[in-house]
Amino acid sequence: MPILQAFGPSPGRPPPPAPVGDATAAARRHGVVPMPSLDWNAQVERETAPLYARVKTVIPAIEWPFFAPYVKAINALKRERNAVILAHNYQTPEIYNCVADFVGDSLQLAREAAKVDAAIIVQCGVHFMAETSKILNPDKTVLIPDRRAGCSLAAAITGQDVRLLRAKFPGVPVVAYVNTSAEVKAEVDVCCTSSNAIEVVESLGADTVIFLPDRYLAHYVAAHTTVKIIAWQGACEVHERFTAEELRRYRADDPALQIIAHPECPPDVIGEADYTGSTAGMIDWVRKNRPRRVVMVTECSMADNVQAELPEVEFVRPCNLCPHMKRITLPKILDSLIHLREEVVIDPTMAARARRAVERMVNLRR
Ligand code: SF4
Repeated sequence: MPILQAFGPSPGRPPPPAPVGDATAAARRHGVVPMPSLDWNAQVERETAPLYARVKTVIPAIEWPFFAPYVKAINALKRERNAVILAHNYQTPEIYNCVADFVGDSLQLAREAAKVDAAIIVQCGVHFMAETSKILNPDKTVLIPDRRAGCSLAAAITGQDVRLLRAKFPGVPVVAYVNTSAEVKAEVDVCCTSSNAIEVVESLGADTVIFLPDRYLAHYVAAHTTVKIIAWQGACEVHERFTAEELRRYRADDPALQIIAHPECPPDVIGEADYTGSTAGMIDWVRKNRPRRVVMVTECSMADNVQAELPEVEFVRPCNLCPHMKRITLPKILDSLIHLREEVVIDPTMAARARRAVERMVNLRR
């Protein structure tokens, strides 16, 4: 089914600022702890050796003495603080493999956030993910190590835009990709991720649905359902950089190469892929199929993370990095755990409305 109509953000609109709490409120509640030692010595080397074994195929030995003291200090502070670290699949290997308690795509992290019983959640991902954790855990302290970690999709639409769409299409349900601010989630009927977008759209039982903010995911959904889709014109600045032409060149060099793509990519890129799915779906596909050579058409840290687990698979890496995800680093995570910053705060009324839309998604298959 083709997309019915498409609407877009006003050109040149600046991204909304990420809201954060009073810089000292969380520190007052939980206290500040002293800076731990960051020395590299034989004891640190011995204690972190099992973790280095997980990442040795993607982190050169010469770099480990920089990472290891942070890894040791962060893991000790997590226990002391009763904190958990949720890390997205696009985080760098030393975060993903060595300090994260839970890893996954947005949906998996949202589900873990709902189950977690720690006092503090440190979200290693971008701001809308930390907001989602706060929405599902209003009584917990949720921290993001760098509040500037935004997202071009989340910045593409505001709550006011959703209200205008509702006025233009009265009675048409609104589905929001989780890559949206809490303010937007509060205005929609239900959220979705790239792994359940089609299922969520069809669960509404409507013949027409407004889908926002990703135009390419909207296109992908429209191609796989009979529901008519009204789309918003946002895009992921990482996935829209891939081209079908570059994938055809890879394939011409090696006809046996497997190409797997994320549905945030443009349609002609998806047209070149052997498989399309969410980041979790892509990882599962590689685990199950064990291709000799594969190109993952998504943010390039994910290939490093899967490579650490499956060293026998050769990953071809067109390296499109997400600059927002890369703002999260081990020194910033440690700083976050010491000083309890940056705390994510959401107006309680807005959070309650946003929670309805997120929980409707999270509960869909229970
Ligand atoms: S990769 Fe794209 S969708 Fe994901 S956080 Fe970065 S800009 Fe947003």
